[in-house]
Amino acid sequence: MSQGLGFQLQTGLILAIFSLAFAAVYFANKRHSVAGWSAIAYACALGGYVLDNTRDMIDHIAVIWATTTFFWLFCITILQAVCARARVSFPVKYIISLLAIAYPLFWISTNYTADISMRSILVNAVSALILIPGIMVLCRGRRSLADNVFIGALVGTAATFLLRVALVYAILGFTLTEENYSGSIYASIFHLTNAICALTLAMGVSFVIAYDKIQQHQNQSTLDPLTGLLNRRGLAAIFDVRDGHPDSDGKSRALILFDIDHFKQINDTYGHVAGDKVLIRIASTAAEICQGMGKVARVGGEEFVVFTEPMDTQATQFVARQLCAALGQIRHPELEGDGRVTASFGHVMLNREETLANATARADKGLYKAKNNGRNQIVFDRAA
Ligand code: GH3
Ligand code: MG
Ligand code: MG
Repeated sequence: MSQGLGFQLQTGLILAIFSLAFAAVYFANKRHSVAGWSAIAYACALGGYVLDNTRDMIDHIAVIWATTTFFWLFCITILQAVCARARVSFPVKYIISLLAIAYPLFWISTNYTADISMRSILVNAVSALILIPGIMVLCRGRRSLADNVFIGALVGTAATFLLRVALVYAILGFTLTEENYSGSIYASIFHLTNAICALTLAMGVSFVIAYDKIQQHQNQSTLDPLTGLLNRRGLAAIFDVRDGHPDSDGKSRALILFDIDHFKQINDTYGHVAGDKVLIRIASTAAEICQGMGKVARVGGEEFVVFTEPMDTQATQFVARQLCAALGQIRHPELEGDGRVTASFGHVMLNREETLANATARADKGLYKAKNNGRNQIVFDRAA
């Protein structure tokens, strides 16, 4: 077997393996859209690669058209993978406009020019232009490590597409024709850089899939599935990071524990589903009220904790009062009468190096008092 053929077989095999591996990940969990689109992308890359290696065997022009189409489809499906992951719509108009310009130019370059330099510049430039919106999508907003890896792989691929043509022609000059293409240095560089890009991108996609999966598990273990708030474990995690020490301005964090009043009656009278809807509404209202002032966690069935940012005691008490008033004003359509539900609160300022368990126990005493005093009220541990 010649060295060239061995390399070609290896590249084909790598593309096939990645396509199958991504397909396996997708079929194991169909929500893995990145894996699904990447499986199609690598199948297209394989199709294009196999065809490109049959140039000398079958009808030339048809092969060139099909190879180019597969090559562009590879880039389009990679772009689709990025859009699906970022939950943004695929730029249909941009891609259609690009192809509407690219195909006629491609037709001209295959029919009217003997030198294939223009054609290869066109094919590579269009491929890079297809990938660029994907890079822009990933660059928006807060970027995770996975986003940065994906950006790196896409920028590397797009830059290779653009630079290799320029470099090769700068060095070799515009001398390539259909007849001397196969076996030319350009063809070798083209195949080698394609293999490197395919491998780099596949490693990038694999990293993104693994990273997203780990992130999803982490979220599942720290978020409450019903309300989307932090759960007890999530609260403990942020408590460990942001300790309760008073800062230099004498500001401190507060822990506000609240429990919905007579919630069992709601469940017993209107059913568990109605109870869940009430819980969701209360959770989202609490999160809205506390936005920027603290984090809200659901720590029990109908029990919640607000862990505030460092603030004056009065400011944390104001948060508790606002919350108590706002929750009592919600009208729940599931319930008869005025549709209102109240909650009782225990509020404590965190002491130096106090544990979450200790602070919660103190707040619970306040909450217990609030229940005994007639509910729908706040008991402050340390009145200012
Ligand atoms: P109190 O005013 O003293 O707090 O009375 P309460 O009825 O709210 O308290 P109790 O602890 O007796 O009842 C809490 C109820 O919360 C019992 C349970 O069925 C309900 N509950 C716990 N988790 C959920 C949940 O996820 N969904 C629904 N719908 N109900 C829940
Ligand atoms: Mg209750
Ligand atoms: Mg309770």
